[in-house]
Amino acid sequence: MADAVRRAGRHEADVRLVAVTKYARLDWIRELLHCGCRVLGESRPQQFVQRVADVESPVEWHFIGHLQRNKARLVVPHAGVIHSVDSLRLLERINQIAVETRVTPQVLLEVNVSGESTKQGFVPETLEREWSQLVELSPVPLAGLMTMAPAYDDPEQARPVFRALRQLRDHLVTRSPVEVSLGELSMGMSGDFEVAIEEGATLVRVGSALFEGLSAE
Ligand SMILES: *Cc1c(COP(=O)(O)O)cnc(C)c1O
Repeated sequence: MADAVRRAGRHEADVRLVAVTKYARLDWIRELLHCGCRVLGESRPQQFVQRVADVESPVEWHFIGHLQRNKARLVVPHAGVIHSVDSLRLLERINQIAVETRVTPQVLLEVNVSGESTKQGFVPETLEREWSQLVELSPVPLAGLMTMAPAYDDPEQARPVFRALRQLRDHLVTRSPVEVSLGELSMGMSGDFEVAIEEGATLVRVGSALFEGLSAE
């Protein structure tokens, strides 16, 4: 990560690692915490809640997977950031729960930049069309955008996807009230986080690369 940050002429403090623990054993997670990792990500609601209960240390929990509206209540009270909001209706639901529980996670909108049918997220055109409604919803702050690139053999192939997300963000900012700065770009995983950092990622979601050594034991 540090190398990619330097290459891009950026500052280390501007890119945060979200350690994705969905395939990790609890003792591996303890190891991570021991190494100073304080931001953990889970992608399934039940496992997210279980992990929040299992990990005693103070951790910022991020929810990164597909969230159905009827599971939002499980996730919202414990999430510092929800990366994967993919519809206006889900955002409305999160807002409702945030008002009721007085806990307001930051929200990122997931964008299906590559257009793969298997991917979740707003199609960019839909995001453009619904933008004025999305930014009007309060109190949950729209903190930025998230995307997943297709699994390419060569991470360079993911670059246009990451660049397109950044450009979409830059455009949406021009259509937003000043308080919506969309500062966060959640992009990059084990296979492509370096390219994502070069293209402006502020949050990289890395799982398997962190645990390679441990899982081989
Ligand atoms: C699993 C997952 C990751 C991490 O993937 P790795 O390839 O293991 O780094 C990142 N983002 C999301 C949304 C995931 O579900």
